[in-house]
Formats: sequence, C-alpha cells, structure tokens
Amino acid sequence: MFWTEELIQSLDKKKKQLVGDSWSTSGFGHIGSLRGAVIHEVAFKALKNAGFDVSYTFFMDDFDPMDGMPKFLDEEVYGKHLGEPLSMIPAPEGKQSLAEYFAKDFDEALKNAGVEAKILWESGLYKKGKFNDVIKVALDNADRIREVYRKISGAKKPNDWYPFHPICEKCGKIGSTKVYDWDGEKVSYKCDPNAAQWAKGCGYNGKISPFNGNGKLPWRVSWPARWKALEITVEGEGKDHWSAGGSRGMADVLAREIFDCEPPYDIRYDFFLIGGKKMSSSAGRGVTARKMSEILPHEVLSFLLAQAPRKTIEFDPKGDTVPRIYDSYDRAREAYFGRIDFPDLGKAFLVCQTQKPKDGYRMRFMKVAYAIQMPKVDILDLAAEEKGNKLTVLEKNDLQERIVYAKKWLNEFAPEDYVFEVQESLPAVRLNSEQKNFLKILGEKLEHSDWTGQTIHTAIHDLRKETQIQPKEAFQAIYLIFLGKDSGPQAGWLLSSLEKDFALKRIKEAL
Ligand SMILES: [Zn+2]
Repeated sequence: MFWTEELIQSLDKKKKQLVGDSWSTSGFGHIGSLRGAVIHEVAFKALKNAGFDVSYTFFMDDFDPMDGMPKFLDEEVYGKHLGEPLSMIPAPEGKQSLAEYFAKDFDEALKNAGVEAKILWESGLYKKGKFNDVIKVALDNADRIREVYRKISGAKKPNDWYPFHPICEKCGKIGSTKVYDWDGEKVSYKCDPNAAQWAKGCGYNGKISPFNGNGKLPWRVSWPARWKALEITVEGEGKDHWSAGGSRGMADVLAREIFDCEPPYDIRYDFFLIGGKKMSSSAGRGVTARKMSEILPHEVLSFLLAQAPRKTIEFDPKGDTVPRIYDSYDRAREAYFGRIDFPDLGKAFLVCQTQKPKDGYRMRFMKVAYAIQMPKVDILDLAAEEKGNKLTVLEKNDLQERIVYAKKWLNEFAPEDYVFEVQESLPAVRLNSEQKNFLKILGEKLEHSDWTGQTIHTAIHDLRKETQIQPKEAFQAIYLIFLGKDSGPQAGWLLSSLEKDFALKRIKEAL
C-alpha cells in the first residue's frame, strides 16, 4: 500500500490531527531536513484531501545550545557564545538572533518546496509557559526517566541527574548547566566548567524556577513532551533517530510511560546522500536546502523527496541526477494517466501536486536542455513538431517552466558532457582515417537529402552500418568538428539545427 494510504487508514477521521516536524536552527538547513519537511507536507495534504480536520506545524528548535561552530562564522567573535541558546546569540548582521538568521534561509527553502506549515518557535513556546506542565511531570518523574535512559540507550544517569537545563543566570549558557535537585518549585543547578568540550560553564551555583522560558528539557525528553503539550498526532523522523537505541524509540517509551500520551503516527525516512555522503548543517558540505529548493520546481522536488520515504536518495546535482529525476517524474505522470501500469507510481505523482493534474504533452527535460543550447532552434516549433500539433496554453507554460530550470541546471550544475556550444570555426581536432571516410560519405549523402532531424538521423545510422565504423567513433567525429568535444545531443537533431550550407561546409573543411 502506498505510504499516504497507510497513514490515512491508521488515523481516526473523527479526531483533529496535527502533523508536526522540527528543525534545529544551528546552521544553514541541509537537504535532509528539507526531506522531512516535504514528507510531512505531503502527509498533511493527503490527510486534508481525504477529508480530515488537520493542520501542519513546523517547529524551529531555536532554544537548543550552539554546540559547534558553523564554518563561515568567525571563531573569535562566536567562540564565546558556544553553549548559549541559539535564540539569544546575535546574528552576524542585522538585529536578529543567530537562530532567526539560519531559519530565514531555511524558511525560503520551505516556501520554494511548497511547504505551507505554520511556523512556531521553541523558545517562544517555552516563554509562554506552553511546556510548564510537562516540565513539572518530567522533573517529578526524574527517577523513572533515568530508568528509561538506562533501559533504552544504555546511558547511566546518576541519581542526582534531572532532565532539565536552565539558562545560567550568570553566563547565559544553557549547554553547560546541570540540575542536581528539584524541590517541586525550583531547580538547583551548577554551571559546570567540565560540562562539554564546546560549552565550558562558569562554575556558578543557582536555584531557579524551571518554568516560563528559564530553561529547557534535554532533546530526548523535550520531543515526547512536545507531543503531549501540543497534541501532535503525526510525526516522523530521519534515520539518525529511528535506529535501535535512537531518540524515537526512547521518545515513544517516554510518551507512554511518563507523559501518558500515545506517540504520534510515525513516518520514518531514510538519508539523503550527496555524492555518497550524509549532509550536515555545520560542516556546510554540498548543497543547502535553499539551493536545492531552487534547482527543481516544487512538484518535482516533492516527488524526489517524498515518493518513497524509506528509500535512500542518492543525489548529485553536478551529475546527471537532475535529468534523471525529471525522467522518473514524467514516468510517474504516465502512470497517473494510466498509460503505464504502475499504480503506486501514479499515486506518488498525485501526492506531489498542488492542483489536480491535467494531461498533455511534455518535452523531456534533457531535450529541453539541449534544445536551448542549439543555435536557431525555436523550441516551441520543435515541441509542436514532436507533439504533432500546436501546444495548448498549459503545455506552453509547462515548457516555459522547464526552460527556466534547464537554464539554471546548465549554468550552475550540469556536467561538461551536457553543456555545449556550436563552434564558429573548425576546432583543432584530429580525426582518424575511418572517421574522415565516414564524414566524407555523410557529407555527400546529406547534400541531396531533406534537412530534418529524422532524415539526418536515419542517414547517419545507415551509413554507420555500411562503413562498419564503431558507433562511438562515428558520433565522436560529428561532435568534434561542430562542438569541439566528443559528446553531445542526438547528432541528427544537432545538424538539423544548423544551416545546411554551414554544416556541409564544416564537414568538407574537416577532411
Ligand atoms: Zn554559567
């Protein structure tokens, strides 16, 4: 069964549903985080379309401590802020906090990806007292929480460990404080100089109310606490969290045993790898979520990220992944309109749409990318020729959109093989005798033939068989003399895009 159908069947339509997802604002968002946000958006829309009373809230986890130095920040300026809540550290420019600075960038990515969630800030929820009740429950049940830690993750917390980190009243850090006592109203804590490599405490001893934003629950406890406090009914997570002993398993137990609530419906999703490597926010490797959201239109991006949450995505914007994604997206569209028999693929296509899909002609992305690089090619004529009729308004709009994204891809990411330019004069290339012979006969044949892509294509293939030249050598000869490189678009089509006289003259020159 397709994953959104399973989701729909598992939930009670009579109850209000809240889809939740979150992201820690500790660096520029990476594509793995965007995958989660888009999967939850698809879940939300699927429920809405199925008639559920549902909303989607996205939490910016800005109350976490800064626990590492994002590469582009000046260590001399920012080193002293390590361990402080991200919501209280100033941004490198403007009046915002560092958390808002990163979140603004990620928010752009969310918008580009078609995510329409309501954004809530964790620090604000703490300050408003939204978590006061669950904080009290957690502190009252510290012994049982220690036991859950021991059972699930094997972590042995000492008897004076409490699940809470106040903001140190002296130095402002939240990553270095340890609570050692709770009297039902206030927590006693120490700002530990040996707390963590990234957050050395000031040594202060304090006693403070844990409520209304004076501090936060540790991540593993705050997650299920949020489910309880905000009544979240659908929330999944990436692979880091759902593996054995991970935070999801623990959150489920804490939800049931401590916070007395049923964990939300789980949607597990796998990694998003760039060149075989996992992305991380602080390392700044590869493509940010925002950049990614600009490479693909949001339906195609949704399809890539959400069609099969449990599958690892291997992506390399610099390879041929982008045209391949379009091809599988187009295939899913064919499945949706029933022209090929893959019902789940058709469903995957449908859940990524914001409007009811309409049928019509579409030019393959790779062909668009090639066509816009050809001299003297009117892409609308080319499309009409391929379709066998004039394009409708909708088809024209689709084509225009593909042109925009094909240009982006060619300009910023496409590998050399896909980028070409017809050379004004004969490039300095060396051809072997077989290639010269092939070109010579080709030139003679084409002189009296029609100048269309199809006739040239057929002429090339017939001649290739007659002369028994290796296919690779034959095509290479054509690409070399026109493009100065050994690969390119379909050769017949390339030649037909040039003036006949120009093309024939070039072939002669090359001999
Ligand atoms: Zn301190």
